Amino acid sequence: MPRPIQATVHTQALRHNLQTARARAPDARAWAVVKANAYGHGIERAFEGLRGADGFALLDLDEAQRLRALGWRGPILLLEGAFELRDLEWCSRLDLWHTVHNEAQIDMLAAHKTNVPQRVFLKMNSGMNRLGFRPEQYRAAWTRLNALPQVDEISLMTHFSDADGAIGVARQLATFDAASADLPGERCISNSAATLRHAHCANDWVRIGIALYGSAPDHPEHPAAHWGLQPTMSLRAQIIATQDLAPGDTVGYGSAFVAERAMRIGVVACGYADGYPRICPTGTPVLVNGMRSHTVGRVSMDMLAVDLTDLPSATLGSEVTLWGAASTGQVLCIDEVAACAQTLGYELMCALAQRVPVVVE
Ligand SMILES: *Cc1c(COP(=O)(O)O)cnc(C)c1O
Repeated sequence: MPRPIQATVHTQALRHNLQTARARAPDARAWAVVKANAYGHGIERAFEGLRGADGFALLDLDEAQRLRALGWRGPILLLEGAFELRDLEWCSRLDLWHTVHNEAQIDMLAAHKTNVPQRVFLKMNSGMNRLGFRPEQYRAAWTRLNALPQVDEISLMTHFSDADGAIGVARQLATFDAASADLPGERCISNSAATLRHAHCANDWVRIGIALYGSAPDHPEHPAAHWGLQPTMSLRAQIIATQDLAPGDTVGYGSAFVAERAMRIGVVACGYADGYPRICPTGTPVLVNGMRSHTVGRVSMDMLAVDLTDLPSATLGSEVTLWGAASTGQVLCIDEVAACAQTLGYELMCALAQRVPVVVE
């Protein structure tokens, strides 16, 4: 028997989350962002649930190729654009749209030999200071691109740094609008957080990532359930041992947990080598047979311990849901676990380890 741990990708939940996000930007077309192997879900596994999107946005040519191999003929956008001239040949071959965020990429386009002009998304750095032309350089970049025979339609794009929090989008939106005001072309600015929280930003295209995967971009201000999002990845394992503890007994490496009373614990076949964060402290929530409990002591490479004291029915083989939905339907949102690990749902789903078998439901 294989080690009793498994991740499940929920096709129906992906479909549902896409619809839910779309409903907040009903007039926009939706990019399903599937970078990082569909946020750890696997492009091939997520495809069926997300094929209702208007296009797929990602970073790696390899992932674009895999989408084409799945039969996707619609738009694919490279969010960081080309890294070298050869990438543009792949864009021609696979019919990819690509972001242009610096002069070097315009130089590459000018040197690219093709008879078929390419659709590009010209990115403005409206304040995040990651990628893009500064507002005062934007028009010149547009003019230069527009003069190239290698370039077809030019769309206008920027990215928000604070759509999920108190700072909000007003300043970046004003910067983008002012610097692009009389340029023609479709606009694409909202990520998940902006689509959910700042509906007025939605224009021709929205770029939906994390919301597709059932995680709230603004947890804990709003939990995923507030936005109507469902978990798309469930990580479940089983109890492979139980231990009865007397007061003063300790659990795991470093004897980091000391029982203050008689307790029963379960040892679960999941550890940091499966992608469960080692930093999760005692008290991190889990579901045992669908009922809430919590971890006890340090997470080790292949195992962690959970409290069964108040769950007398839990025993060898009982299901432990580390995040997502229990097989009986109860939900432990990945964002809750991520908060205990001082990170985001994004990081947990992306870090699901290769050794965990994944099934699609
Ligand atoms: C990753 C990414 C997105 C999606 O962001 P979410 O917060 O996951 O919705 C959108 N746009 C760009 C440019 C990205 O890199």
